Amino acid sequence: MRDRLRPLVAGNWKMNGRGADLAEIAAIRAAVVAGRAGQAEILVCPPATLLMDVARLCAGSPVALGAQDCHPAEGGPHTGDISAEMLKDAGASYVIVGHSERRAEHGESDALVRAKAKAGLRAGLRVILCVGESEAERAAGAALERVAAQLEQSLPDRVSPHDLVIAYEPVWAIGTGLTPTPADVAEIHAFLRSRLAQYLPGSGCAVRILYGGSVKPANAAELLTIGDVDGTLVGGASLKAAEFMAIAGVYRGVKRPAQHA
Ligand code: PEP
Repeated sequence: MRDRLRPLVAGNWKMNGRGADLAEIAAIRAAVVAGRAGQAEILVCPPATLLMDVARLCAGSPVALGAQDCHPAEGGPHTGDISAEMLKDAGASYVIVGHSERRAEHGESDALVRAKAKAGLRAGLRVILCVGESEAERAAGAALERVAAQLEQSLPDRVSPHDLVIAYEPVWAIGTGLTPTPADVAEIHAFLRSRLAQYLPGSGCAVRILYGGSVKPANAAELLTIGDVDGTLVGGASLKAAEFMAIAGVYRGVKRPAQHA
């Protein structure tokens, strides 16, 4: 059996959050400093407008900062876009790529997601690569096939497990209050683990695989203690420090190696 990895609890604020909401980040920072996340790594991914404020607020604390997307290019004529290098410069250490909302609303293909993942790595960011099936794909029994295709087509080559996180997020579970059964989560995570071992020989077992989709304090313990679940990507429940930290609190007292610190 593989060693358990240091869990990652990541908050994706999506297109939410204004200056006044920085108080929630300050509360998350205080809770993490007080040890309320145990050995879990805590990451906050605010909108780009708040990145530098959050970087200042979390400087010198264990709270990591991430962005929600990046452009594949380093710079240039791409109005409204932000490069991975600019995110790094703003203080980010992670970037999310391939979130289903971007795939759906911006028509992002697996090839584009791979280019964004490569850009994140080029800039020295750790990449959270999202995969997940739609409701129709699950109903058709094609969930494994869908996530396998997304992984194969968007995973960058030659990536260190330190710099890569996979987030399994069934599209139908995001923001809906619906979640897969623990058995379904276990099946997909074990499947992703086996594919990672195939694509990244010798290191696939050290890549963290997060579950995301309607994780709340009430279901966190059930979903986050499944064997191959190495943490979570949280949307709505990450906007309030109390809820987010209640989710992270699942890992309090859980002894995990400091790998990926
Ligand atoms: C997400 O957007 O990544 C997500 C998991 O959202 P929620 O927790 O709100 O379902």
